[in-house]
Amino acid sequence: MDPALGPPEEMAEKRDELTPMMAQYHDLCERYDDALVLFQVGDFYETFCGAAERTARLLEVTLTSREDSTGEYPMTGIPIDNAESYIEELLEAGYRVAVADQVEEPGESSGVVERAVTRVITPGTLTEDELLAGDDNNFVAAVARDGEELALALLDVSTGDFLATSSTSSEAIADEVSRFDPAEAVVGPDAPMDVFPDDCMETPFDEAVFERERAAETVSAYFRNPDALLASDAEVRACGALLEYAEYARGSESEAEAEADDENENDRLEYITHLTRYDPREYLLLDAVALRSLELFEPRAVHGRDDATLVGVLDETSSALGGRKLRDWIRRPLLEPDRIEARLDAVEELQSAVREREALQELLKDVYDLERLIGRISRERANARDLRSLRDTLAVVPDVREQLEDADCDRLQRLHADLDPLADVRELIEDSIVEDPPIEITEGGIIAEGYDENLDDLRQTARDGKQWIDDLEERERERTGIDSLKVGYNSVHGYYIEVTNPNLDSVPGDYQRRQTLKNSERFVTPELKEREDEIVGAEERADELEYELFREVRKTIADEVERVQDLADALATVDALVSLATVAAQYDYCRPALLERSDGVEIDIEGGRHPVVERTQESFVPNDAQFADGRRLAVITGPNMSGKSTYMRQVAQIVLLAQVGSFVPAKSARLTPVDRIFTRVGASDDIAGGRSTFMVEMDELATILREADGRSLVLLDEVGRGTSTADGLAIAQAMAEHIHDEIGATTLFATHHHPLTEVADELEDAFTLHFEVDQEDGEVVFHHEVAPGAATGSYGVEVATAAGVPEPVVERSRELVAEAGDEQSTDKSEPPAATTTDAAPTTADGGERTVDEQSAPSETVDLPSDVAAELRTLEVAHMTPVEALSELDRLKRLLEEERES
Ligand code: ADP
Repeated sequence: MDPALGPPEEMAEKRDELTPMMAQYHDLCERYDDALVLFQVGDFYETFCGAAERTARLLEVTLTSREDSTGEYPMTGIPIDNAESYIEELLEAGYRVAVADQVEEPGESSGVVERAVTRVITPGTLTEDELLAGDDNNFVAAVARDGEELALALLDVSTGDFLATSSTSSEAIADEVSRFDPAEAVVGPDAPMDVFPDDCMETPFDEAVFERERAAETVSAYFRNPDALLASDAEVRACGALLEYAEYARGSESEAEAEADDENENDRLEYITHLTRYDPREYLLLDAVALRSLELFEPRAVHGRDDATLVGVLDETSSALGGRKLRDWIRRPLLEPDRIEARLDAVEELQSAVREREALQELLKDVYDLERLIGRISRERANARDLRSLRDTLAVVPDVREQLEDADCDRLQRLHADLDPLADVRELIEDSIVEDPPIEITEGGIIAEGYDENLDDLRQTARDGKQWIDDLEERERERTGIDSLKVGYNSVHGYYIEVTNPNLDSVPGDYQRRQTLKNSERFVTPELKEREDEIVGAEERADELEYELFREVRKTIADEVERVQDLADALATVDALVSLATVAAQYDYCRPALLERSDGVEIDIEGGRHPVVERTQESFVPNDAQFADGRRLAVITGPNMSGKSTYMRQVAQIVLLAQVGSFVPAKSARLTPVDRIFTRVGASDDIAGGRSTFMVEMDELATILREADGRSLVLLDEVGRGTSTADGLAIAQAMAEHIHDEIGATTLFATHHHPLTEVADELEDAFTLHFEVDQEDGEVVFHHEVAPGAATGSYGVEVATAAGVPEPVVERSRELVAEAGDEQSTDKSEPPAATTTDAAPTTADGGERTVDEQSAPSETVDLPSDVAAELRTLEVAHMTPVEALSELDRLKRLLEEERES
């Protein structure tokens, strides 16, 4: 715990002597001892002592102090008016923030003003629009263990989205965590912490909330039949704990309520109405590595653009609701052909119905974030403007429905039926709330005329009184004969009649003097006073009544939470489908044909393009891809920058897009849905994690070998780079063979190890592809065109020229390449290949290549036969780098011994 949190020591020492206000601060710090308490004093949130010193430094605000009879305390205040930006900084610095508001008007009670923590703001439980990204969910997670079972629960407190899943493997849980990328996690006893990445805040929380009985009780308060809904006790624990955490973070309206909560009173978050239990195996599995390398949500530095992501190219949604829906679809691509086809049908129909699609896109721009709106309404945090926003959205619904009136496909017809315009709710708001209400809900001006008779009467009384006063000036001028007589108002004295000094003689007897100014006197009359009291009284009562009526209206709407959420879901779905259709139409995508899931995977893409790269550059060369029985593993060669990794990724992204239910960037595409996409692409340094690039690579490869199967799509880019050439080739070859023989996954394997292309010739289901480049006038020309067969050269030197490596260095490189070419009889660009006895690479003429032949330095020609023999039997493919090193060392010593003898 941060030393600045909890009650300040200097206060704790003399708790009983503190002034009532400081005692209150002390006690709140004690109750919320893992959070930074922001303590409302008038227009500021104050922090004291150690916390004040920390906040002053962090937020760069002035540190002052507060002195009272018990001592002097450091103090820092932030203005409530723009507290959000400060709170955001505190959250970023890793704090939880407990907001202690004054929950009664100063002067309402005799003692110190009552304060209560009305919100505990943490990264995972944000509900403030200002602190949230509109088009993305913000999840808090809980992980619980029950025996062998691990469960993950995820909740978006701002929208009420609630999910649960479980598995016996912590890797599978970690994969689900990376899908949803929670901002914060509550971890149960014995549950693994390492399923969460470093940037996820881990929150210590009362372990008792994870107990099976208690968790079951919590969950039952929300959902009728939790045992039918959830698949395991671990899930019950995770869900129960998470709900209790969300209730805690919600805060309370008063201190009394907070105490009641401690005794486990029901404090349900009414807008959490749906719990989606899912099995990870229902969706295309993408682990953290695949999510990153396929650029789903995070851009890769190479494109140099923040929007260069898959979601960036697909997102043409009009509303925050649609944006979140689309992200959820991309996060969880489908497996079941029926569900995919249903989305594709809708996309196809919307793609060709141009007029309707464009109309929908326009209409949906007026859709507010209904999910967060109804969340606020339910949490009693919504103001009158929020209700009007709800009304404005409901007003759009009939028009959205109309655009879907003639829909053909099931999916759109169902959406048409689901778009309930909630006429009752809309009418209620129209009748009760004025068109342009103020933000404040306690100061009147909210409730519409004609909604409540009592309110109308009070307002009439106030209006009549004001009218009487308006007419007073004229009446009194006539009565007194003073033409300059004025009626005015000020906030201290209220209404008055002002007479200038020269006319004071004409003042009637019933005028009572109130105030003397330099040139005039101000008076009141008993009648004026009486009228004034009447107006003020009526206005005060009207404000109170308005507040009461507003809360009633808000409650009535809150009771319709499920209907509003269902509508939100339908609107979100329409928006996401329209977005996919728009992209399909604008960027010339085609509808993928899904193939029956027989045993293996089949992929047949004609003229495929990389959805992200094609947007970041002027022209893009389309390429085909064919995988089926007999063509399962492609070994892809070609110089750097020729397009290998772009090609591999585009195949995977096209498959993924199809499973999202999107059209794909290709001329045509036929494919079987895959269960999982594995990637081992590029050097993803995990320096922060303290592991070498090579270790990361081996780790990723190990995962693939362990978990891939015949329904997986595997991308391997430059396997074995982080080690010596011989080692690298050995590992690459062994990987290829194993995937081919044992796993049967559909695999794209890019490599600079040319001997691998020869390995491919030996493997029944493997084939080779290459990217050719040409040299024109000493310059390299990239065609980015994939062709069958192996590449001939690496053109490394030419690429170096193109990249701007200085000419002398390039010249010298050319010389060295030429020399090497003279010395080596084999392919000039080839690195020396290691040889294994069981799967020896062959030379161009088909003969077996031996170590003797290919080793360049002349000395090795007379390698003693023993050592050569030893080398021949080495199974490099089955050695670890360390084993290889010690073997090398042994051979060297053997060689030296032989020399000596
Ligand atoms: P490699 O993996 O072979 O080193 P990349 O796939 O990273 O090469 O491609 C290098 C660059 O070439 C890409 O960043 C992109 O700008 C361009 N490129 C790749 N494929 C194509 C293509 N099909 N059409 C147009 N440009 C391409």
